[in-house]
Amino acid sequence: MELRICFLYGGLMNIYGDRGNVIALAKRAQWRGIAPIVKIINPGDPIDPDYFDVFVFGGGQDKEQYVAARDLQELNGERLRVAVDYGAVVLAVCGGYQLLGLYYQPWNAPRIEGVGLINSYTIAGNERFIGNVIVDSPYGKLVGFENHSGLTYLGEGVEPLGEVLKGKGNNGTDGTEGVISGTVFGTYMHGPILPKNHLLTDHILGLALSRRYGKIELSKLDDDFEVLAHDIAAARPR
Ligand code: GLN
Repeated sequence: MELRICFLYGGLMNIYGDRGNVIALAKRAQWRGIAPIVKIINPGDPIDPDYFDVFVFGGGQDKEQYVAARDLQELNGERLRVAVDYGAVVLAVCGGYQLLGLYYQPWNAPRIEGVGLINSYTIAGNERFIGNVIVDSPYGKLVGFENHSGLTYLGEGVEPLGEVLKGKGNNGTDGTEGVISGTVFGTYMHGPILPKNHLLTDHILGLALSRRYGKIELSKLDDDFEVLAHDIAAARPR
Protein backbone atom coordinates (compact mmCIF):
# COMPACT_ATOMS: atom_id res chain seq x y z
CA MET A 1 0.00 0.00 0.00
CA GLU A 2 1.03 3.60 -0.45
CA LEU A 3 -0.18 6.90 0.97
CA ARG A 4 -0.12 9.85 -1.41
CA ILE A 5 0.33 13.09 0.54
CA CYS A 6 0.09 16.56 -0.97
CA PHE A 7 1.83 19.35 0.96
CA LEU A 8 -0.30 22.11 -0.52
CA TYR A 9 1.74 25.30 -1.13
CA GLY A 10 4.39 23.81 1.16
CA GLY A 11 6.97 26.41 0.17
CA LEU A 12 4.59 29.24 1.02
CA MET A 13 2.17 28.14 3.73
CA ASN A 14 4.28 26.55 6.46
CA ILE A 15 4.69 28.25 9.84
CA TYR A 16 5.22 27.11 13.45
CA GLY A 17 6.25 23.65 12.29
CA ASP A 18 3.22 22.85 10.10
CA ARG A 19 5.45 20.70 7.86
CA GLY A 20 5.60 18.32 10.83
CA ASN A 21 2.05 17.26 9.94
CA VAL A 22 3.34 15.84 6.66
CA ILE A 23 6.17 14.06 8.48
CA ALA A 24 3.82 12.59 11.11
CA LEU A 25 1.46 11.16 8.47
CA ALA A 26 4.36 9.83 6.39
CA LYS A 27 6.08 8.22 9.39
CA ARG A 28 2.98 6.63 10.87
CA ALA A 29 2.25 5.13 7.44
CA GLN A 30 5.85 3.95 6.96
CA TRP A 31 6.05 2.37 10.43
CA ARG A 32 3.13 0.19 9.31
CA GLY A 33 4.71 -0.85 6.02
CA ILE A 34 2.71 1.65 3.96
CA ALA A 35 4.91 3.63 1.56
CA PRO A 36 4.41 7.41 1.81
CA ILE A 37 4.74 9.55 -1.31
CA VAL A 38 4.99 13.29 -0.59
CA LYS A 39 4.60 15.92 -3.29
CA ILE A 40 4.60 19.69 -2.85
CA ILE A 41 2.14 21.63 -4.98
CA ASN A 42 3.29 25.22 -5.54
CA PRO A 43 1.17 28.01 -7.04
CA GLY A 44 0.92 27.27 -10.77
CA ASP A 45 1.20 23.47 -10.41
CA PRO A 46 -2.15 21.86 -11.23
CA ILE A 47 -3.47 19.35 -8.69
CA ASP A 48 -4.46 16.01 -10.22
CA PRO A 49 -7.77 15.57 -8.35
CA ASP A 50 -7.69 11.78 -8.64
CA TYR A 51 -4.16 11.28 -7.32
CA PHE A 52 -3.84 12.43 -3.72
CA ASP A 53 -5.23 10.67 -0.63
CA VAL A 54 -4.57 13.54 1.76
CA PHE A 55 -3.79 17.26 1.53
CA VAL A 56 -1.91 19.11 4.24
CA PHE A 57 -2.41 22.87 4.03
CA GLY A 58 -0.45 24.94 6.55
CA GLY A 59 -0.68 28.44 7.94
CA GLY A 60 0.69 31.71 6.66
CA GLN A 61 0.26 35.41 7.16
CA ASP A 62 -2.05 37.55 5.04
CA LYS A 63 0.70 38.25 2.50
CA GLU A 64 1.13 34.55 1.70
CA GLN A 65 -2.61 33.97 1.91
CA TYR A 66 -3.20 36.37 -1.00
CA VAL A 67 -0.82 34.35 -3.18
CA ALA A 68 -2.37 31.01 -2.22
CA ALA A 69 -5.91 32.37 -2.61
CA ARG A 70 -5.15 33.60 -6.09
CA ASP A 71 -3.93 30.18 -7.16
CA LEU A 72 -6.99 28.58 -5.58
CA GLN A 73 -9.27 30.92 -7.49
CA GLU A 74 -7.49 30.68 -10.81
CA LEU A 75 -6.32 27.08 -10.87
CA ASN A 76 -6.59 24.75 -7.92
CA GLY A 77 -9.73 25.52 -5.90
CA GLU A 78 -11.99 23.53 -8.22
CA ARG A 79 -9.40 20.75 -8.45
CA LEU A 80 -9.27 20.54 -4.66
CA ARG A 81 -13.08 20.40 -4.47
CA VAL A 82 -13.11 17.52 -6.96
CA ALA A 83 -10.36 15.72 -5.02
CA VAL A 84 -12.53 15.96 -1.88
CA ASP A 85 -15.51 14.65 -3.90
CA TYR A 86 -13.26 11.68 -4.78
CA GLY A 87 -12.75 11.07 -1.05
CA ALA A 88 -9.48 12.87 -0.37
CA VAL A 89 -8.90 14.06 3.19
CA VAL A 90 -7.74 17.62 3.95
CA LEU A 91 -6.04 18.94 7.07
CA ALA A 92 -5.88 22.74 6.94
CA VAL A 93 -4.22 24.83 9.64
CA CYS A 94 -4.86 28.49 10.47
CA GLY A 95 -4.27 30.52 7.27
CA GLY A 96 -5.05 27.40 5.20
CA TYR A 97 -8.18 26.73 7.27
CA GLN A 98 -9.35 30.32 6.68
CA LEU A 99 -8.91 29.92 2.90
CA LEU A 100 -11.07 26.79 2.71
CA GLY A 101 -14.06 28.67 4.12
CA LEU A 102 -16.31 31.06 2.23
CA TYR A 103 -14.11 34.11 2.73
CA TYR A 104 -11.52 35.79 4.90
CA GLN A 105 -11.90 39.51 5.54
CA PRO A 106 -8.49 40.90 6.57
CA TRP A 107 -8.11 44.09 8.59
CA ASN A 108 -8.38 47.13 6.27
CA ALA A 109 -7.55 45.15 3.15
CA PRO A 110 -9.53 43.53 0.33
CA ARG A 111 -11.61 40.46 1.12
CA ILE A 112 -10.06 37.13 0.17
CA GLU A 113 -12.54 34.73 -1.43
CA GLY A 114 -12.28 31.17 -0.07
CA VAL A 115 -12.70 27.81 -1.72
CA GLY A 116 -16.04 27.20 0.00
CA LEU A 117 -15.16 23.66 1.03
CA ILE A 118 -16.13 24.57 4.58
CA ASN A 119 -19.27 26.46 5.53
CA SER A 120 -17.43 29.07 7.60
CA TYR A 121 -16.17 32.61 7.29
CA THR A 122 -13.35 34.54 8.94
CA ILE A 123 -13.07 38.19 9.89
CA ALA A 124 -9.86 39.76 11.19
CA GLY A 125 -10.19 40.93 14.77
CA ASN A 126 -8.17 43.65 16.46
CA GLU A 127 -6.63 41.29 18.99
CA ARG A 128 -4.07 38.54 18.33
CA PHE A 129 -4.66 35.22 20.04
CA ILE A 130 -1.29 33.75 20.95
CA GLY A 131 -0.65 30.81 23.23
CA ASN A 132 -1.01 27.14 24.01
CA VAL A 133 -4.33 25.44 23.39
CA ILE A 134 -6.09 22.34 24.69
CA VAL A 135 -9.20 21.08 22.92
CA ASP A 136 -11.59 18.34 23.98
CA SER A 137 -12.28 16.33 20.82
CA PRO A 138 -13.42 12.89 19.65
CA TYR A 139 -9.67 12.13 19.27
CA GLY A 140 -8.77 12.88 22.86
CA LYS A 141 -7.56 16.14 24.35
CA LEU A 142 -5.72 17.81 21.49
CA VAL A 143 -2.77 20.07 22.27
CA GLY A 144 -1.33 22.81 20.08
CA PHE A 145 -0.28 26.41 19.74
CA GLU A 146 -2.35 29.21 18.21
CA ASN A 147 -1.32 32.57 16.76
CA HIS A 148 -4.04 34.33 14.78
CA SER A 149 -6.14 37.44 14.66
CA GLY A 150 -8.77 35.99 12.30
CA LEU A 151 -12.07 35.08 13.96
CA THR A 152 -13.74 32.09 12.31
CA TYR A 153 -17.46 31.39 12.60
CA LEU A 154 -18.98 28.06 11.60
CA GLY A 155 -22.23 27.82 9.63
CA GLU A 156 -24.80 25.05 9.30
CA GLY A 157 -23.84 21.50 8.42
CA VAL A 158 -20.37 21.42 9.96
CA GLU A 159 -19.09 20.37 13.39
CA PRO A 160 -16.29 21.94 15.39
CA LEU A 161 -13.21 19.78 15.81
CA GLY A 162 -13.70 20.18 19.53
CA GLU A 163 -14.36 22.38 22.51
CA VAL A 164 -11.72 24.75 23.85
CA LEU A 165 -10.45 23.86 27.32
CA LYS A 166 -7.51 26.29 27.19
CA GLY A 167 -6.98 29.08 24.65
CA LYS A 168 -9.25 30.94 22.27
CA GLY A 169 -10.00 28.60 19.34
CA ASN A 170 -12.11 29.68 16.38
CA ASN A 171 -13.16 33.09 17.67
CA GLY A 172 -12.63 33.37 21.43
CA THR A 173 -16.35 33.59 22.14
CA ASP A 174 -18.29 30.43 21.24
CA GLY A 175 -15.91 27.86 22.78
CA THR A 176 -15.34 26.00 19.51
CA GLU A 177 -12.05 25.07 17.91
CA GLY A 178 -11.56 23.99 14.33
CA VAL A 179 -13.98 22.18 12.10
CA ILE A 180 -14.91 18.80 10.71
CA SER A 181 -16.76 19.00 7.42
CA GLY A 182 -16.96 15.56 5.84
CA THR A 183 -13.33 14.62 5.17
CA VAL A 184 -12.09 18.20 5.61
CA PHE A 185 -10.48 19.08 8.96
CA GLY A 186 -9.62 22.66 9.89
CA THR A 187 -7.85 23.92 12.98
CA TYR A 188 -5.93 26.87 14.38
CA MET A 189 -3.52 24.53 16.12
CA HIS A 190 0.09 24.67 15.02
CA GLY A 191 2.93 23.18 16.93
CA PRO A 192 2.56 21.10 14.68
CA ILE A 193 -0.70 19.42 15.67
CA LEU A 194 -0.27 15.85 14.37
CA PRO A 195 2.97 14.54 15.95
CA LYS A 196 1.68 14.99 19.50
CA ASN A 197 -1.96 14.09 18.85
CA HIS A 198 -1.55 10.59 17.43
CA LEU A 199 -5.22 9.57 17.69
CA LEU A 200 -6.16 12.39 15.31
CA THR A 201 -3.22 11.50 13.06
CA ASP A 202 -4.31 7.87 12.83
CA HIS A 203 -7.91 8.89 12.19
CA ILE A 204 -6.80 11.06 9.26
CA LEU A 205 -4.45 8.32 8.05
CA GLY A 206 -7.17 5.65 8.12
CA LEU A 207 -9.64 7.91 6.36
CA ALA A 208 -7.07 8.80 3.67
CA LEU A 209 -6.19 5.14 3.06
CA SER A 210 -9.86 4.14 2.87
CA ARG A 211 -10.23 6.25 -0.28
CA ARG A 212 -8.45 3.61 -2.37
CA TYR A 213 -8.18 0.57 -0.08
CA GLY A 214 -11.49 0.55 1.80
CA LYS A 215 -11.67 0.40 5.57
CA ILE A 216 -8.46 -1.02 6.99
CA GLU A 217 -7.40 -1.81 10.53
CA LEU A 218 -4.26 0.18 11.37
CA SER A 219 -1.74 -1.86 13.35
CA LYS A 220 -0.81 -0.62 16.82
CA LEU A 221 2.37 1.39 17.22
CA ASP A 222 4.48 2.16 20.24
CA ASP A 223 3.24 5.67 21.09
CA ASP A 224 5.32 6.36 24.21
CA PHE A 225 7.12 9.37 22.69
CA GLU A 226 3.93 10.80 21.21
CA VAL A 227 2.15 10.52 24.55
CA LEU A 228 5.12 12.13 26.33
CA ALA A 229 5.20 15.03 23.84
CA HIS A 230 1.45 15.45 24.27
CA ASP A 231 1.60 15.46 28.05
CA ILE A 232 4.48 17.95 28.18
CA ALA A 233 2.60 20.30 25.83
CA ALA A 234 -0.61 19.88 27.86
CA ALA A 235 1.16 20.87 31.07
CA ARG A 236 2.47 24.15 29.62
CA PRO A 237 0.87 27.37 30.81
CA ARG A 238 -1.19 29.37 28.34
N1 GLN B 1 -3.29 35.70 8.84
C1 GLN B 1 -4.10 34.85 9.59
C2 GLN B 1 -4.47 35.39 10.97
O1 GLN B 1 -3.66 35.97 11.68
C3 GLN B 1 -3.48 33.48 9.67
C4 GLN B 1 -2.30 33.37 10.59
C5 GLN B 1 -1.66 32.01 10.63
O2 GLN B 1 -1.81 31.18 9.71
N2 GLN B 1 -0.90 31.77 11.69
O3 GLN B 1 -5.59 35.20 11.35
